[in-house]
Amino acid sequence: MNVHRNAVGHEGDPSGDIVLNPLFARPGEATTLPRHRLPEDESLPETAYQIVHDEAMLDGNARLNLATFVGTWMDSHAERLYAEAFDKNMVDKDEYPATAAIEARCATILADLWHAPDPEQAIGTSTVGSSEAAMLGGLALKRRWQHARRAAGQPTDRPNLVMSSAVQVCWEKFCTYFEVEPRYVPISAEHPVLDGHDLAAYVDENTIGVVAILGVTYTGMYEPVAQICAALDELQASAGLDVQVHVDGASGSMVAPFIQPDLVWDFRLPRVASVNTSGHKYGLVYPGLGWIVWRDRAALPEELIFSVSYLGGDMPTLALNFSRPGAQVLLQYYQFLRLGRSGFTKVQQSSSDVAQHLAHEIGAMPAFELWNDGSDIPVFAWRLRAGHTDNWNLYHLSDRLRSRGWLVPAYPMPADLQEVTVQRIVVRNGLSMDLAESFLEDLRAQVAWLDSLEGPMPAVRQTGFHH
Ligand SMILES: *Cc1c(COP(=O)(O)O)cnc(C)c1O
Repeated sequence: MNVHRNAVGHEGDPSGDIVLNPLFARPGEATTLPRHRLPEDESLPETAYQIVHDEAMLDGNARLNLATFVGTWMDSHAERLYAEAFDKNMVDKDEYPATAAIEARCATILADLWHAPDPEQAIGTSTVGSSEAAMLGGLALKRRWQHARRAAGQPTDRPNLVMSSAVQVCWEKFCTYFEVEPRYVPISAEHPVLDGHDLAAYVDENTIGVVAILGVTYTGMYEPVAQICAALDELQASAGLDVQVHVDGASGSMVAPFIQPDLVWDFRLPRVASVNTSGHKYGLVYPGLGWIVWRDRAALPEELIFSVSYLGGDMPTLALNFSRPGAQVLLQYYQFLRLGRSGFTKVQQSSSDVAQHLAHEIGAMPAFELWNDGSDIPVFAWRLRAGHTDNWNLYHLSDRLRSRGWLVPAYPMPADLQEVTVQRIVVRNGLSMDLAESFLEDLRAQVAWLDSLEGPMPAVRQTGFHH
């Protein structure tokens, strides 16, 4: 008799006694299941659950993950709503008309938050994340450029997109997938973000648009969108090129409206054609949600819009995915209603306070030098102070912190600043001042340990950077 069959309990054990065996002591649980092919037989649901659950324990603790921008905490009402809605498919507008209406409402709320001239005339959609939103934003820029070029009898075979060398990887993907030449403006010590300087050297008649980042992934710093637009205004006056801007506000578009309301970066600037954000970052929703909004219908070429049937009529949709979860959209609406403008302001301000406190304390340590202080989005980076030590580097520190459960990545800055290694913390809702103090204690202890070494640490594997 096959032992594994026994574990299943139906054939080898018709009495079902095995189900009464204590968990972890049943026959099938003393063996390992095949990892890379489908097991021959069934397992008890308890056994299968426990195996998956236990292996997932080896993942890092999401709440101690100071690397990610993505939401790791929602309140219990949100969790209840999530559990009630995980079967909803966003694409089934006709079957789930209420969810579809809520999606459209959220897009209008965002258009209003970002000062679209007429939020009711703006058009937007939810997506799986900012990456999908970036693909759609880039495609709209490319199509608009193609239309204008064709109308002028000009060729359309060499489109390019201008952006900082510190863009998130989704823009490299957009350029590769949709055959657009990426033109990276290198960042430098004098120009740590894309700021309009020397833009005329990169923009030409084949430029489909410029990407401005509100909250650069590497450091959390804002690119001055108004200054970039002003540089493009000058270029239009001098060279007649009318180039649109897409704002990648994956994190900042849900921070700036609340804690830097006077910063002009959005549809108040006529050159800004579209804005994206990640609902699952500072939109305060669990993973799986992004948004993109165009300032008006003219900014989004018609042919990118498809119609789906909706309550006997048609509803416009645009997306790369077909089926995807609808629950996150309901969670976004929950957060809008739960927090309102004042609640979002309090949440983002307290993350900002924690970030600036951590930055201040870390900047005061002799080992470190701050790259920025967390006063744009609640994200900041630091580097090892030159001359502090030859015995260890930030990769060693990252490793030591990981052994305490904290995930704080170290990584090189992008092209032209690659020799600079930084370490970064992303403060999100859920990293309280109290937890931040525990982190500082651990950080100080690990730095003291590393500083006490008599000789150099062996090299550690440089782990990937969480874009
Ligand atoms: C996180 C991020 C993205 C990608 O967003 P996802 O929602 O993870 O797809 C794009 N751009 C910037 C600036 C980001 O920070």
